[in-house]
Amino acid sequence: MTQNLTKVVFWGVRGSTPTVERDSWRYGGNTSCVELTTPGGSRFIFDCGTGLRMLGNHLHALNGRWTKWRGDAGVEAHVLVTHYHWDHIQGIPFFHPFFEAQNRFHFYSYESKYLGRNSLRQVLEAQLAKPYFPVDVTTMAAARTFRAVEGGDQWDLDETHVRAAWLNHPQGCLGYRLDTPIGSVVYATDNEPGVAEFDDNLRQLAQGADVLIYDAQYSPEQLASTRKGWGHSCWLEGVKIARESKVKNLVLFHHDPDSSSSTVDGFLSAARQEFASTWAAMEGMSITLNGKGADIVLPEARLGQRRRLCFPALVSGCTEDGAAFEEKATVRDVSVQGAYLCLSNRPRLQSELRVVIQGSDDPSEAGALSLRATVTHCEPRRDKGQNGVGVFFIEDAEPEPPRD
Ligand SMILES: [Zn+2]
Ligand SMILES: [Zn+2]
Repeated sequence: MTQNLTKVVFWGVRGSTPTVERDSWRYGGNTSCVELTTPGGSRFIFDCGTGLRMLGNHLHALNGRWTKWRGDAGVEAHVLVTHYHWDHIQGIPFFHPFFEAQNRFHFYSYESKYLGRNSLRQVLEAQLAKPYFPVDVTTMAAARTFRAVEGGDQWDLDETHVRAAWLNHPQGCLGYRLDTPIGSVVYATDNEPGVAEFDDNLRQLAQGADVLIYDAQYSPEQLASTRKGWGHSCWLEGVKIARESKVKNLVLFHHDPDSSSSTVDGFLSAARQEFASTWAAMEGMSITLNGKGADIVLPEARLGQRRRLCFPALVSGCTEDGAAFEEKATVRDVSVQGAYLCLSNRPRLQSELRVVIQGSDDPSEAGALSLRATVTHCEPRRDKGQNGVGVFFIEDAEPEPPRD
């Protein structure tokens, strides 16, 4: 089905290695994998980290639904691989569409000096070699083509223009830019700033892009000290590039496996102080470009039981325009992780709110429940002037230790 939209979906946002810790899952634990579909229906996949498995399940289900009315035409995609570190290739053996004969995949990456010709094919097949995987590569029935590309190359795929540029990362890494009929998206992860040649490459690649997905693994302090030379970047560099290259939306990506959700929250809010249109990549998040702007949708984060209720709350936070607000509101339901609120203000997605729920029996301040929350959803309600706002409760910052 074709629509007049370009859509980006984040299937894996973590760098280096997958995480399953409770305090990391709000942003997601799968490693790098981003899908882009164009208005004409062409599908691109950036990187094959562990997020690729979930994309595979999604495509399998989608193809099953299509099969009813158009026959099994299979899945076709262009797979742009940035480099061969584990976190960018480890999803390959777990991507079901590779094992189905009706599907077609076109791979692009560079010839590594450590692997030589057919580098990408070798990487793919080595993961299914004995004794690393139970079945061998002959079970991978989908048609596959491999094309070696390098920094500076550009080519057309269907209605989309693709450009590749070298980034600064141990053993090499490519950044990609896709200019689709509706909007441009740059995927530039695994890059350490500070080498003029690569810094220039990236700025040229990102020039005027609607969306820049950028490596923000470390804090600026880590990048300047203990993590110097590890090949990664930070939110502050992302902000500088976004400003200098007149990028419209900056997405912080490749979160460190040791970064908790609240650490990523902190990077995001620091970045937003400098560059307002910043987002933090979240597993399941989508960005739709429709020619007028970027529409961001966050994944459903509230998995707990919901209890319907109706009681008053005092809510304070920031609107989409950045203005502070405080209003009396109604809590309509509560679940273990979050709540659905009715507000007259429209708070910004991924911004922080303070929700003070006032006990109806005891309106005194002492009886109030004060909760820190992040906005995951916001849409107008049918009741006049009200917005339905989904929030996810986050832990309060550690209290300051008592002073003597
Ligand atoms: Zn990586
Ligand atoms: Zn890497």
